[in-house]
Amino acid sequence: MSFSRDLLAPLDTFERRHTGSPAADVAEMLKTVGYETVDALADAAVPANIRLKRPLRLPAAASETTALAELRAIASKNKIFRSYIGMGYYDTATPGVIQRNILENPGWYTAYTPYQAEISQGRLEALLNFQTLVTELTGLQIANASMLDEGTAAAEAMMLAHRVKLGDSHDTSVFFVSEKCHPQTIDIVKTRAKPLNVDVIVGDHRTYEFAGKVFGVLLQYPDTTGSIHDFAAFFEKAHAAGALAVVATDLLALTLLKAPGEFGADVAVGSAQRFGVPMGFGGPHAGFLATKDEFKRQMPGRLVGVSKDTHGNPAMRLALGTREQHIRRDKATSNICTAQVLLAVMASMYAVYHGPEGLKRIAQRTRLLTKLLADGLVASGAKVNAEPVFDTLTVSGIDAAKVTAAALAAKINLRAVNASTVGLSLDETTSIADVKTLLSLFGRDAAAFDSQLSALISQLEDYAPPFARTSDYLTAKVFNSFHTEHEMLRYIKRLEQKDLSLVHSMISLGSCTMKLNATSEMFPVTWAEFGKLHPFAPAEQTKGYAKMFDQLEKWLAEITGFAAVSLQPNAGSQGEYAGLLVIRAYHESRGEGHRNICLIPTSAHGTNPASAAMCNFKVVPVACDANGNIDVTDLKAKVTEHAANLAALMVTYPSTHGVFEVSIKTICRLIHEAGGQVYMDGANMNAQVGLTSPGHIGADVCHLNLHKTFCIPHGGGGPGMGPIGVAKQLVPFLPSHAVVPLHHDSGGNHMGAVSAAPWGSASILVISWMYIRMMGPDGLKRATQFAILNANYIAKRLANHFPVLYKGASELVAHECILEFRPWKKHGLEVEDVAKRLMDYGYHAPTMSFPVPGTLMIEPTESETKTELDRFCDALIAIHGEMAAVASGESDKANNPLKHAPHTAAAVIATEWAHPYTRETAAFPDKWTRASKFWPAVGRVDNVYGDRNLVCSCIGMEAYASPSAAS
Ligand SMILES: *Cc1c(COP(=O)(O)O)cnc(C)c1O
Repeated sequence: MSFSRDLLAPLDTFERRHTGSPAADVAEMLKTVGYETVDALADAAVPANIRLKRPLRLPAAASETTALAELRAIASKNKIFRSYIGMGYYDTATPGVIQRNILENPGWYTAYTPYQAEISQGRLEALLNFQTLVTELTGLQIANASMLDEGTAAAEAMMLAHRVKLGDSHDTSVFFVSEKCHPQTIDIVKTRAKPLNVDVIVGDHRTYEFAGKVFGVLLQYPDTTGSIHDFAAFFEKAHAAGALAVVATDLLALTLLKAPGEFGADVAVGSAQRFGVPMGFGGPHAGFLATKDEFKRQMPGRLVGVSKDTHGNPAMRLALGTREQHIRRDKATSNICTAQVLLAVMASMYAVYHGPEGLKRIAQRTRLLTKLLADGLVASGAKVNAEPVFDTLTVSGIDAAKVTAAALAAKINLRAVNASTVGLSLDETTSIADVKTLLSLFGRDAAAFDSQLSALISQLEDYAPPFARTSDYLTAKVFNSFHTEHEMLRYIKRLEQKDLSLVHSMISLGSCTMKLNATSEMFPVTWAEFGKLHPFAPAEQTKGYAKMFDQLEKWLAEITGFAAVSLQPNAGSQGEYAGLLVIRAYHESRGEGHRNICLIPTSAHGTNPASAAMCNFKVVPVACDANGNIDVTDLKAKVTEHAANLAALMVTYPSTHGVFEVSIKTICRLIHEAGGQVYMDGANMNAQVGLTSPGHIGADVCHLNLHKTFCIPHGGGGPGMGPIGVAKQLVPFLPSHAVVPLHHDSGGNHMGAVSAAPWGSASILVISWMYIRMMGPDGLKRATQFAILNANYIAKRLANHFPVLYKGASELVAHECILEFRPWKKHGLEVEDVAKRLMDYGYHAPTMSFPVPGTLMIEPTESETKTELDRFCDALIAIHGEMAAVASGESDKANNPLKHAPHTAAAVIATEWAHPYTRETAAFPDKWTRASKFWPAVGRVDNVYGDRNLVCSCIGMEAYASPSAAS
């Protein structure tokens, strides 16, 4: 054998790990699909008139080691200072057992949103714990499973109050916001309020006189300066004026302070970041929202509830789905789809690990240190808050410049307020030594402080009424059982083992692009240089982030064919909302603020109409034709009818029907001719990258779901990132931020902020950076081609069993395919039976009944091998056989493996077996399952029962007997 020069190439090139079917397998797949090469297939699948004429201008692929080294060098430009900035972001000690076994564990981070409840009981239980934590600490009856961040949670609370008090009316109304809320929260609330004709009055609650149609008030407790106020009287006034009372609050403080629900709050919001989730320069973190039972149907976001399975055992699943965008569309309670599940899981586990006593100790210690600091500061001649405080002080009567300079020299960040004032917030990680260091910055002599320490400590007492907390919290067994690391590790593992994730098998969810989340992409997320930075740290310390953002923005702009990118929106849905606001601002700037019609094809994702509604756009549906394409005749008619008021078209490309429509350029032209802008939903970018682009096609703005196309894992339902790219004319209108100037800020008529942090969930952007850097322009293009190949291969292999509903011009699908199951209805078989039966075969169902009821939409992605695709197809073909047996009468109509799926271990091993099919058929339907069985934790879940008997916490619920929580 002779050696070749190729041997000198790096051994750890990445593309073959990501898009890696062996050449012989690729040849076979191409043969099945009927094309010679992947290039020929892509040429046939993607319309010629939209193909890019040149390769993407991106750096050539770097190997895994090289890319990591390059990012290390960038990370080293970030400086880790001790942060006392506060403002909703605090340092925290992530317990190692949680970091390694959840945050860094693909068993948790690669799972999908728990729609298939039977194989999601682990994260559903963790989310139920999160809801319990939030309801009990806030003293309200019901909490959802996580919000995108504190600022957006406050904005959602405003919308909730608006719905409750004003219904559909958009007459001028008033929302009062305390000036002592965090500035980024006020910013986001103002952005949300504007299109809805809501006047946001920012002021001092102590002097505010209710006037006009005030439907809600928002206050912060403790406030952004650290002061704690008694809001009871103000809330009485608010209620008398017909307003709902919203409190932005802090879970750690609430372990010591009276719960908002006990002094009149109707809604409580906040962030669970300091429960063990790194600051990460702004995110991702779980926000929370809790409210009274009477407003549960008005709640935004995801909600976990307890129901029962077919065997009568308790089983959890997502509850009250009828509020959500995927069902209610423009009438939904919010546009939230991807949220912050992984971070809510982490926060709940932090509470499980510490328990009520542990949390209280952390809070008391933080408060004690704050109090000691306050006394020391006063002794040094400074002034601090007059009201009670928890962890935050506003220090005045000082030379702020001098103190800040001393702080920076000691690698410490304080909150800048004005020339004679600074703020500081202590946290779980602060020690008495830190307090002494802080005092020295203000010129206080440590020896004098030391001599008084014991006396000072003995003086501190619990909060007095009306601030003292008197009610219990976290009394459920789950919060009082797992306080050693062994117990905690096993609890985490028990839950993990109930959940099917990408560590088990492919999850071929159409539209959701569950591709490889490579380990090398994930490593940097937990590097301290990215994890430990406060989002409002001085720019001088965050140059590494700035460089990474700058490169990523440029790369994404090149990939989308746009002039600029904003990294602020922290989910696809938020990107839609941000993009539509950009369009709105653009029309306004041209004196065309009246344009308010948003055309949306009927096949669109529910977030599209829900986001349009948030901008107060009127949604006008556009029909689809028999081939799944936009009905151009109908589109023309709607454009003509609404030309004068046309704001935008929202279009997904390739369509949610999995087809590259050939008329897309014409469609864009029609919209532009009528003065509208084209919003492209970029969820299907996995079929575009390197072959075409939204900008090239003619769109004006699009969002990217970085958790779909660009490898951020789905986290069991979040986090994600939804940056937007925009064409030149829209750049001046991109999101801004109240605290941190963004580089698009020069001039322009910015809409304000859409996320609490300037670059959204900044720390997970490293994942997409790594992906693009390791794939390079050729690798990215090939990924798209293989995504198309894999989808067409599946479509062909299953064609004789389940017909593909829609195909494009060359009889090809794009990167996903919709399979038809409706004809089986006449035999009593539903697509849901197939979804549940797939669990017995070790698979998560593809997307069910979206965008067409009674179908499955399969998106294999490029990162599955032929071996895995075949195994999946074999499972579906075997299920087809089981269905045919039912249809022919060979199997009983009601008592067959489909109707009783999924089969739990308990059901299969039970003494009683009342089925005509064997236990083996039930549990080991194919060879693979014998070698490696994934057991669904519960039998089929009864959804209706759970919604009728809503239980959303693990307290006060007789039925709740989780094997994990039970002794
Ligand atoms: C996933 C998806 C969205 C919503 O994105 P999130 O990140 O979940 O908010 C919007 N449109 C389509 C077509 C999608 O598949």
